[in-house]
Amino acid sequence: MIFIFGEKIRTRSESVGDKPCAVCQSTRAFTEQHESLWFCLFGLPIAPIEKTAAYWRCEHCLTAYHCNDSSQPSHITVLKQLIVYLLMGYHQEDHPAVASEICLKISGFEISETEFQQIMAGIARGDMEMVEAVRHLAPVVNAVGKQQVLEAVFLTTYICCDLEYEDRLRINLIGNALGVGLEFVEYAISQTRKQNYYGVRRLRFAADGVRQDF
Ligand SMILES: [Zn+2]
Repeated sequence: MIFIFGEKIRTRSESVGDKPCAVCQSTRAFTEQHESLWFCLFGLPIAPIEKTAAYWRCEHCLTAYHCNDSSQPSHITVLKQLIVYLLMGYHQEDHPAVASEICLKISGFEISETEFQQIMAGIARGDMEMVEAVRHLAPVVNAVGKQQVLEAVFLTTYICCDLEYEDRLRINLIGNALGVGLEFVEYAISQTRKQNYYGVRRLRFAADGVRQDF
C-alpha cells in the first residue's frame, strides 16, 4: 500500500466584532485568524504540526493587524524600516520625501520626517536587524501585507539601482523571511511593474559620483 504524506495550512476564523480599521478609516467587522500547519495523509489533515500565524483581519479590506490592536496594520512598522534601510544602503538617505511617497502609494501610510530620522538613527545604532524583523512579522501578517512589503522592497531597490544579482537576492531573502516562495516574490514584482512603479521617480548617481535625481 502506498501512503501519500504531506502538509497543509489550515485557517480557523472567529469573529471579534466591529473594530476601527485604519485602512478603511471606518468601523468594520473583524475576525481573528489562526493559521496552522497540519500533517496530511492522502490530502486529508490528520494532526496539527505547528501554529503558523495569528492576527486580526478587517473583513472589508482584508488587512491584517496584531491581535487586540487595530490602530495600524501589522506590517507597516517593518515596511517603513525596510524602505529607509534600503535607501541608506544605496546612499540615498537624503530622500525622506521619496521614502514617504513609496510608503504612501503602496500602503496608504506616510513616513513623517521625524519618523524617517528616528528609523535612520535606530538603523545606524544597529538596533534593527531587518531580516530578523521580517521573520518576526511573518506570523502576524497575511498575503495582503506580505505583498505590500515585497512591493516596497522591490520599488525602493528599483529606484536606487539597476538590479544586479545581489539586489535581487536581497529581495528573495526578504520573501524567504516572510515565508513565501519565489512565485509570490515574482508576483509582487509584476504587480509593481503593472502599476508603472507607482509613478515614483528613480534616483541615480551621476557619472562624476555626484548624487542627482532624474
Ligand atoms: Zn479595512
